[in-house]
Amino acid sequence: MAWNPKIEKMPIKELKDMQFKLLKMQVYRLYSFNRFYHDRMRQQGVHPDDIQTLDDVRKLPFMLKQDLRDNYPTGMFTASGDEVVRYHVSSGTTGKPTLVGYTERDLEMWTESLARALTSCGIGRGDVMQVSYGYGLFTGGLGLHYGAERVGATVLPTSTGNTERQIELMMDLGVTAIACTPSYMVYLGEVAERMGVSLKDDTELKVGIMGAEPWSEGTRTHFRDVLGVEAYDIYGTSELSGPLFTECEAQDGIHVWGDMALVEIIDPDTGEACADGEKSELVVTMLQKEALPMMRYRIGDITCLMEDECSCGRTHPRIGRISGRVDDMLIIRGINVFPSQVEHTLMQLPQCTGHFQIIVDRVGALDSMKVKVELTPEVFSDRINDLMAIRKSISNELKKYLNIAADVEFMEPGSLPRYQGKARRVEDRREM
Ligand SMILES: [Zn+2]
Repeated sequence: MAWNPKIEKMPIKELKDMQFKLLKMQVYRLYSFNRFYHDRMRQQGVHPDDIQTLDDVRKLPFMLKQDLRDNYPTGMFTASGDEVVRYHVSSGTTGKPTLVGYTERDLEMWTESLARALTSCGIGRGDVMQVSYGYGLFTGGLGLHYGAERVGATVLPTSTGNTERQIELMMDLGVTAIACTPSYMVYLGEVAERMGVSLKDDTELKVGIMGAEPWSEGTRTHFRDVLGVEAYDIYGTSELSGPLFTECEAQDGIHVWGDMALVEIIDPDTGEACADGEKSELVVTMLQKEALPMMRYRIGDITCLMEDECSCGRTHPRIGRISGRVDDMLIIRGINVFPSQVEHTLMQLPQCTGHFQIIVDRVGALDSMKVKVELTPEVFSDRINDLMAIRKSISNELKKYLNIAADVEFMEPGSLPRYQGKARRVEDRREM
């Protein structure tokens, strides 16, 4: 079922024509009415008249998060103050926060995007959806909230924290769907177990909308088998509105609504376009945003683009699972390592709880990588000889997948930090 079948399943040629018209209009608007974009385009030597085909998007200048910081708070807004009906603020892990603004129409498009997305994950009237993302300045909570209401689901706005209460409410109200980070889902499962509740057998929970941090197919299988939750990946970032796009029932990539966003995959070093299917840096141009339209925005996420038709019948392009951030990518002894690869490896191993931490250090001139791995209580209390065999097998698996040797250190069950928001699993001690 589709929320807006006319748009979601429109012929690809019509969709591309529509994207081209929207792009051209957006570029004219930005060039004519905003000092920042006008100057940036002139520096690049490009005029709106140079946009003659959809591929001409490549002539336009890039934007970075730093541009938002440099023009904080509202220097990049293209709507006047009285047209802006909401602000969100993203906590910058590095440097100044970034402010995003929305016109009434921006909020409407955001909600429409999520209504299409949630419908494609099977959520609708009759569902009770618990939104365990943060409400407030963060975009996750309110974004999902309005999207779920739009499709007719009943929303339970629990936000983050108070996990036991969340589980009680989940049972009392027959919650069928949840939106949260994958690390919070793991934590919910653990707390439920301590309360003597099986999420799989004692609740109605069936669907999870999981995002804000990268996760793997192994995690999907784990949630399905152990928690009885079918997890769907969701993507978005506050600068583009917030969470916007999800996987559909086919679970083969995240549909990016082409009437809202134009996606490119570029080589981060040269800025040139990559071949279809190649994994590299994602660039997004928002085609209809009014208050804070982003032109060729380099979010810093690594993924691939799939333009072939999806088995669900939707014609809009898909992006693959985010495999990391350009700036999260660790270069260890010259090899690119993403924390998501470590997660993927560990999730395949039944001895691990899924909690881990990576510590990168430099001894002399040589980089070293240590992975702290939390074992399940059953395995942890086992005899010492078995633990050594397990350590060896985990080391071998990591080596096979990462192409790099890592020290494995076992941690007691429950000893590594739990995250209710984004997990921070890497400690790079090399710069210190
Ligand atoms: Zn699909």
